[in-house]
Amino acid sequence: SKAPIAIIGTGIAGLSAARTLHDAGQPVHLFDKSRGSGGRMASKRSDAGSLDLGAQYFTARDRRFTDALRQWHAEGWVDQWAPNLYQARDGQLTPSADEQVRWVGKPTMSAITRGLLGDLPVTFSCRITEVFRGEQFWTLVDASGASHGPFSQVVVAVPAPQAAALLPSAPKLAAVAASVAMEPTWAVSLGFATPLSTQLEGCFVQDDALDWVARNRSKPGRDGGLDTWVLHGTSNWSRQHLDLSKEAVIERLHGAFAELIDCVVPAPEFTLAHRWLYARPAQAHEWTALADARLGLYACGDWCLSGRVEGAWLSGQEAARRLLENL
Ligand code: FAD
Ligand code: NAD
Repeated sequence: SKAPIAIIGTGIAGLSAARTLHDAGQPVHLFDKSRGSGGRMASKRSDAGSLDLGAQYFTARDRRFTDALRQWHAEGWVDQWAPNLYQARDGQLTPSADEQVRWVGKPTMSAITRGLLGDLPVTFSCRITEVFRGEQFWTLVDASGASHGPFSQVVVAVPAPQAAALLPSAPKLAAVAASVAMEPTWAVSLGFATPLSTQLEGCFVQDDALDWVARNRSKPGRDGGLDTWVLHGTSNWSRQHLDLSKEAVIERLHGAFAELIDCVVPAPEFTLAHRWLYARPAQAHEWTALADARLGLYACGDWCLSGRVEGAWLSGQEAARRLLENL
């Protein structure tokens, strides 16, 4: 039988590519260092239920993505989220309703990548450290020193700094990936036994520390008894406080939240902090995907486009398209 295509990364970019290749009759095998799929759009299971600590929602502007969304909606993986939106500027909180359609995975963000993964072959808890080509086939080496292969082609679908380390076989691709700066985001979740007495369900903040606040239970199908909130630090604040302890980050963002919101904020029952080191590219790009078709090496991810879920999905589509075109 044919050597499969290796896909490194089971975020939305990797799974976008994987599905298209599989549907075109190509065997694939996915790898991820995490225990499950989703990457930055995974939801985290916690004592306070499942929490969206990374991507909060997504919008769709490209028709191809809108078409995919329609299918995901029919599968029951996604639903619209129409939060009661606010914005905060200079300490002033104001309602900020709009007409934008926003989508979330249902009942958790992970439902989308889990659905796309289906029963495709995948190896989790496997961090790939090396990608090299022999005379005919590719071999991957993982952090424990084990080899995987042979593979006919490789699609690298991880954040740019991590991609750069896997692309030395194609120095041009490695250089492009290495040129992308990615910004961190500190994410904090707070859970309250008594629901906060506010109408607010989502808030765009232009503050020193906070960038975004969301009420988790306002999203469709969320579980958990507590009133859980997700707070995101700005890129700047997160970079400046990269090495702060989780306890201190929780305290600082909890403080900023209490100051921002229009109600009393008691001590939370539940707290959690997560540091996303490579949360978003510092700027958007227009590469769509990177390819060395002669070698059979491809790279995709949100950093090739807009740094959003839609961009990541489109990038995966393009990597798959170019690979199929070169078979
Ligand atoms: P990722 O999701 O990062 O997937 C890469 C995968 O590769 C991961 O699963 C990782 O574990 C794995 N991996 C990495 N290195 C290796 C390795 N060496 N070996 C094996 N596996 C490896 N976008 C929006 O559209 N709307 C939002 O509201 C939004 N909010 C966000 C908030 C935060 C805090 C963050 C962090 C991101 C947010 N985004 C948002 C961006 C969105 O989450 C990303 O654009 C998108 O999920 C990126 O998908 P990806 O597949 O390119 O990368
Ligand atoms: P979107 O159209 O809802 O938001 C884009 C931006 O427009 C917002 O960041 C906000 O500044 C502004 N905005 C939109 N609606 C607003 C309203 N009603 N009131 C006030 N301001 C409003 O969604 P999108 O373009 O799909 O962007 C996705 C979101 O994901 C953005 O908010 C972005 O900041 C966020 N994101 C965060 C990270 C991270 O690492 N923290 C990474 C990628 C994306």
